[in-house]
Amino acid sequence: GVTDGDEVAKAQQAAPGGAAPTIFSRILDRSLPADILYEDQQCLAFRDVAPQAPVHFLVIPKKPIPRISQAEEEDQQKFCSLINEETAKAEGLGDGYRLVINDGKLGAQSVYHLHIHVLGGRQLQWPPG
Ligand code: C5P
Repeated sequence: GVTDGDEVAKAQQAAPGGAAPTIFSRILDRSLPADILYEDQQCLAFRDVAPQAPVHFLVIPKKPIPRISQAEEEDQQKFCSLINEETAKAEGLGDGYRLVINDGKLGAQSVYHLHIHVLGGRQLQWPPG
């Protein structure tokens, strides 16, 4: 599997710039297969290909917002929190889970299409690396 180091290395190379289409555009248009858990007009939830916990899925807006620190306030408000909770429960995370948004190079973001990681299914540790 992909190690933390690999993911951080990818993050150093990813373009933090802007409007370039990412791999997630291909998941959205179904040209790249993904295990989709939830979809509505505004967002999509699918399993991470390199899970870091027994349950690890991503929630993304369909709008290709590159990163949370560049999201307009109006977009931030639409951030699918209800969807996270419903899907988290459906995935058996009733005893708790973690939401993570990596932002930019120092946050180890590797795909510049805003996404929330939802991780759970084991006792998580703190702090993360
Ligand atoms: O937050 P960050 O940008 O570092 O994470 C991107 C995530 O997207 C990684 O956890 C990676 O495993 C996942 N990914 C995926 N499917 C792809 C490409 C990346 O689930 N095709």
